Amino acid sequence: MNQPQIILLGPPGAGKGTQSTRLAEEYDVDHVTTGDALRANRDVETDHGTPREYMEAGELVPDPVVNEIVVEALADADGFVLDGYPRNLDQAEFLADIVDLDTVASLSVPEDELVRRLTGRRICPDCDATYHVEFAPPAEAGSCDDCGAELTQRDDDTEDTVRERLRVYEENTAPVVDHYRETGKLTEVDGDGTPDEVFTALRETVEA
Ligand code: ADP
Ligand code: AMP
Repeated sequence: MNQPQIILLGPPGAGKGTQSTRLAEEYDVDHVTTGDALRANRDVETDHGTPREYMEAGELVPDPVVNEIVVEALADADGFVLDGYPRNLDQAEFLADIVDLDTVASLSVPEDELVRRLTGRRICPDCDATYHVEFAPPAEAGSCDDCGAELTQRDDDTEDTVRERLRVYEENTAPVVDHYRETGKLTEVDGDGTPDEVFTALRETVEA
């Protein structure tokens, strides 16, 4: 059997990165995350300026830039978990032309919890591991368990930018969730549990 082709939708802070990492390990597939790819290339000049300008404002990076990242990342993937894409209906249409999805799951989490998760998130700038000051703290405050680097806060995880990202999600990405619901492809998963509980529900969805 071919390896599963999965997309994980949900607002910023819903736990997509946390769960995609675990799913990719469980099913031995690639974890493709447009956010990480864009952060790694945030100062690269494109026809539309640099990704940084959009990301720091909490806006979507223009489709041609993001679509190119996805095409390259999926070209050689034998199965994948796609995290952070598609984020608008045009991207969903673009994706439909290049892959056949096995699972479309969407994580729901109340907005006040999303804000708590995002403002408390800390990341490792060297190995991309994710922590939370309260919900998933590292063994030693401020340093990465995996590689020892000093943890940082993402530029866009400040309260004002988080609010803008949630607005952008409602405007652009919620219609993508509606679209997959209407086509009968969507499974909605409660993201407001422990990471283990959410993972169990996602695994059941992939294996259904
Ligand atoms: P996303 O990729 O959807 O933006 P992340 O996976 O980066 O979200 O999670 C956002 C923050 O919330 C991180 O700091 C992470 O440690 C924390 N987190 C993830 N899942 C949970 C959970 N089930 N309960 C509490 N905190 C969580
Ligand atoms: P994330 O790491 O998924 O929270 O994404 C961080 C930021 O990267 C977003 O706020 C956008 O600016 C940009 N980004 C990530 N994925 C996409 C996408 N599919 N389309 C447009 N912009 C994106």
